[in-house]
Amino acid sequence: MSGDDNRIACRGCGRNIVPRLWHYGGGRLSYATTQHLCPFCGIVLYETGGGVRWGCVIILLLFSSPFIVLFVFTLVREMTKEFSR
Ligand SMILES: [Zn+2]
Repeated sequence: MSGDDNRIACRGCGRNIVPRLWHYGGGRLSYATTQHLCPFCGIVLYETGGGVRWGCVIILLLFSSPFIVLFVFTLVREMTKEFSR
């Protein structure tokens, strides 16, 4: 009985199947996507995961923000120098 818990009806071949998992993608800034495939006909039943790792993006932005601030500051200073002339 407990083995049937993971079984779902495949919309491709109509069998009750345990989906085969296929992971792809993923990296420093994004999560891996998990595809749930039918082991008999191979269609993708559904996908989970994926998306952007916002934690990593925010950390990256925090680390690069001093450079951005410095760049903007220099730009503004150059502009105000132009205007005060
Ligand atoms: Zn199938």
